[in-house]
Amino acid sequence: MQSIYKYIIRLEELIISSPKPVLNRFEPPLIKNVENIEEIKKALPEDVASDKALLDYTLSRLLVNEFSQKIEAANLSCPICGNYPTLLLLDKKPTLSFEVVEARSRCICGYERVHERFMCPRCGSKGREVFESYVTRRGEVKVFRCKKCGHIFGEVDRDGLSDKEIQGLHFALRLAFRDLEKSEGGVENPD
Ligand SMILES: [Zn+2]
Ligand SMILES: [Zn+2]
Repeated sequence: MQSIYKYIIRLEELIISSPKPVLNRFEPPLIKNVENIEEIKKALPEDVASDKALLDYTLSRLLVNEFSQKIEAANLSCPICGNYPTLLLLDKKPTLSFEVVEARSRCICGYERVHERFMCPRCGSKGREVFESYVTRRGEVKVFRCKKCGHIFGEVDRDGLSDKEIQGLHFALRLAFRDLEKSEGGVENPD
């Protein structure tokens, strides 16, 4: 867990200094329309450039930095990379008399949008009863699993976390989800 966290934080530094992605058309998911992949690959270390999953991840991070403010999601899948959000970030906004909690769903690429709590970010099912939930020992992370589609996602307070830190945390969480999927044995995974 700790090492994946560090690895992702390091990758974030590389991403900042990579060439900007150029699109051949502005159509979601944007990751399918990157024109200068070869140029970007040349600027990356070999272990990242030669690994399809890491390269896709890097491309999607570059795209988020460049285009997340310019693209609107038409459905629940991510307009940047095509995945479904696996993290819900809670922003607590204190007002004079009470606290308002705003939730945003976040894809592994970092694309965020406003999201209703207790709604599955994959199939859209709503209601607390739709989910099985788990809480980590110290209560800082909640994990939800949709009973309708099997989608698993986490929920944390943003609480001053930087973008980089959220990426590291999100990656580590997704590894934990994988174990959860295995232990439950009930989630169908076509690949
Ligand atoms: Zn995405
Ligand atoms: Zn669902």
